[in-house]
Amino acid sequence: MQRISLLGATGSVGRSTLEVIALNPERYQVYALTGHSRMDQLALLCSQFHPQKVVVADGQQREYLRQCGAVDAATQILVGREGLIEVAVDPCVDTVMAAIVGAAGLEPTLAAVCAGKRVLLANKEALVMSGDLFMQSVRQSAARLLPVDSEHSAIFQCLAQPGRSLHEQGVEKLVLTGSGGPFRTLSKAALAQVTPAMAVRHPRWSMGPKISVDSATLMNKGLELIEACWLFDAAPEAIEIWIHPQSIVHSLVRYQDGSTLAQLGYPDMRTPIAVALAWPERIVAGVAPLDLLTTGTLEFEAPDRERFPCLDLARQAMAAGGSAPTLLNAANEVAVQAFLQNETPFSAIPAIIAATLDRLPVSATATLEQVIEADRQARQVAGRLIHQHRAGI
Ligand code: NAD
Ligand code: MG
Repeated sequence: MQRISLLGATGSVGRSTLEVIALNPERYQVYALTGHSRMDQLALLCSQFHPQKVVVADGQQREYLRQCGAVDAATQILVGREGLIEVAVDPCVDTVMAAIVGAAGLEPTLAAVCAGKRVLLANKEALVMSGDLFMQSVRQSAARLLPVDSEHSAIFQCLAQPGRSLHEQGVEKLVLTGSGGPFRTLSKAALAQVTPAMAVRHPRWSMGPKISVDSATLMNKGLELIEACWLFDAAPEAIEIWIHPQSIVHSLVRYQDGSTLAQLGYPDMRTPIAVALAWPERIVAGVAPLDLLTTGTLEFEAPDRERFPCLDLARQAMAAGGSAPTLLNAANEVAVQAFLQNETPFSAIPAIIAATLDRLPVSATATLEQVIEADRQARQVAGRLIHQHRAGI
């Protein structure tokens, strides 16, 4: 029986994780659930899964959960950052699903790594912003890091010995696929007019708002490139990106002997979640078997780097090293939030990120404090840029 802390239970990945767990009750027990908003939904999940601990954002939410009658009297309700870290390192817990969105997930995820947990990583921003520190912590603790992002899960599944170096395994290239998002075929002029509602309506995947916007700008693929560099110890040049609108081939590994291996399936996060939960075994995930006879043609094309400049920004940040990916990630989070709140146009997102990177020097990010400081500085600069833009300065 694996006991699980699920960080970000009320989100898209969180709910898919609970669906997979519900299909495999003899293997998994929900020990802790966390949520930052949508308390009605968290209450419902508590009445279904009876966690021993729940973490919410503040005292008011705790009060709501206590009063609503859905939470067992014995369930402990914890609050805020300390609560998140507590359930991430709890000695009763074997597995931590890191499914909080954005930088908010860094500290609990890193804490789970340092505590030697089996860490299922959906929260790519945590790894992007602290890559070196994160992977060093994995090596130093006995933590087992398993990718949940579908592309990285695909690569992981296509490697015969995921723990060994790519070179030793005869790998020449990793190919990350991406759907191209909802605006794949839009002109530059049309891209300037898109609204948040259009951006969060992804054609293939059902996801939270932030990653949906990242998919629309292709920053999601940029973040995934950085994520793959760290997870598989790959150079950015060893990673290609192919646009694949059908989202059936989730990524590929090209070997030096001419073989290319790919992992296929319907675009449904329950598959990579189940892989990470059960690895090296396999469990049911509730996903229909892939029928290639009915999927139609599978297409692949090179990404348009001019219409989607976030890809190159991410590549450059990874090549620059140090705090550059931290700055990129923070500026992106701020710009995406501003776009979602109708405070800045879609096409300003890459411009804000580029300008933030231009204004800040690259520094070392060897410690958590340095990572947090770089993140803070980039948020401040990006916020100021958005404010100036709105004020017409
Ligand atoms: P979501 O917005 O649906 O859910 C986010 C979760 O994080 C919610 O439970 C929310 O309450 C919690 N949260 C938000 N802000 C928080 C804060 N400040 N403190 C604590 N908790 C907070 O997001 P999602 O789509 O489920 O994505 C989660 C992560 O998984 C992201 O990093 C995303 O990039 C990654 N991911 C998602 C998908 C997908 O299909 N949705 C696929 C691959 C990777
Ligand atoms: Mg992905």
